[in-house]
Amino acid sequence: MTKRVLVVEDNELNLKLFCDLLRVHNHEALGISDGREALDQARSFKPDLIIMDIHMPYVSGLDLIMSLKKDETLSPVPVMAVTAYAGKGDEDQIRDAGAEAYVSKPISVMKFIDVVNGLLERSSGIDA
Ligand code: MN
Repeated sequence: MTKRVLVVEDNELNLKLFCDLLRVHNHEALGISDGREALDQARSFKPDLIIMDIHMPYVSGLDLIMSLKKDETLSPVPVMAVTAYAGKGDEDQIRDAGAEAYVSKPISVMKFIDVVNGLLERSSGIDA
């Protein structure tokens, strides 16, 4: 069954890469490069998974993850954070914000898809 994945990533090349990979694996991908649109897009697209860049202009992915997890409707949607590895402290911060998984950039294609599919298997998405 096709699953819906929202990708929030300000780097256009990464955004395209992530969406292409998802589509090759038969997922429906919606990519947005402006994090300020993330919550509205999540409400309308009703994704089964959100892939979230951490370093973005205007709004940090960490703040967005916290906002998603505080939202009654959106909180069940698993979040996979992607960011350049900058030490164990970063991963702790990402987990503390509420992300279910973390993949470091540059991504390994196999790891990326493994983590995506693992989260999607467990995701019940947004009812409605
Ligand atoms: Mn970025």
